[in-house]
Amino acid sequence: MNRAQAAEFFARLEAANPEPKSELEYLDPYTLLVAVVLSAQATDVGVNRATGPLFKKVRTPAQMVALGEAGLKAFIKAIGLFNTKAKNVIALSEILVRDHGGQVPRDREILESLPGVGRKTANVVLNVAFGEPTMAVDTHVFRVSNRTGLAPGKTPLEVELKLLKIIPAQFAQHAHHWLILHGRYTCIARKPNCPHCVVRDLCAYKDKTPGPGDVLAPVAQATKKEPIAQAIGRKAVAQATSRSAIPSKKTAQKKSAAKTRR
Ligand code: SF4
Repeated sequence: MNRAQAAEFFARLEAANPEPKSELEYLDPYTLLVAVVLSAQATDVGVNRATGPLFKKVRTPAQMVALGEAGLKAFIKAIGLFNTKAKNVIALSEILVRDHGGQVPRDREILESLPGVGRKTANVVLNVAFGEPTMAVDTHVFRVSNRTGLAPGKTPLEVELKLLKIIPAQFAQHAHHWLILHGRYTCIARKPNCPHCVVRDLCAYKDKTPGPGDVLAPVAQATKKEPIAQAIGRKAVAQATSRSAIPSKKTAQKKSAAKTRR
């Protein structure tokens, strides 16, 4: 996809959802950081279910340290990998209290040095909490970027760097959320909803799901041996035959004999 097409791609996602938001619930940079650490390999809904009651009681790193690992586990035990996550959240909270005055630093290097915080989490915090135009590549962003041809890459980092290059500045702030939401609700992993996709004509995915009466059906069926035009023609004949628009040879002969008798 070239830059002009990428601009059109994001203009349409923006038109469909002008103010995209994170579906993770949080109150400030610290609770966002905790929610993102807890969300690894878990759904936002599952994390919100745990953090709702947790953030009523604990809102600062100092309060988290006071709650302790066992206390935190009681809140997050329904989330996958909760043992490791509890350990990381307590450890990172201790570091924030000890070295950063209980504040989440607006600094990628420091963020990535915290326990349980990788590049993706740092990108989310920098983007959502501090408004920086970073690009966190999760499973949805990775899939959409590859399928559409927007920023194909073999690793999340390769996709991230290509996205940062191709996304026009005016869309950089929200691009991350548009891609996540597009991947979560339209460009779904198993069966993308191509017939209702606003960027369908810009998308390079060769196995788009066809809609009713869609010209893509024969296109998808076309092979090297049978070009697209032929495949379209074959579909038209098949439809006509099924509606009996083309009478069989036997029926035609019977009709002509009846006419002669009359
Ligand atoms: S056309 Fe289909 S594959 Fe392409 S972005 Fe839309 S939903 Fe995804």
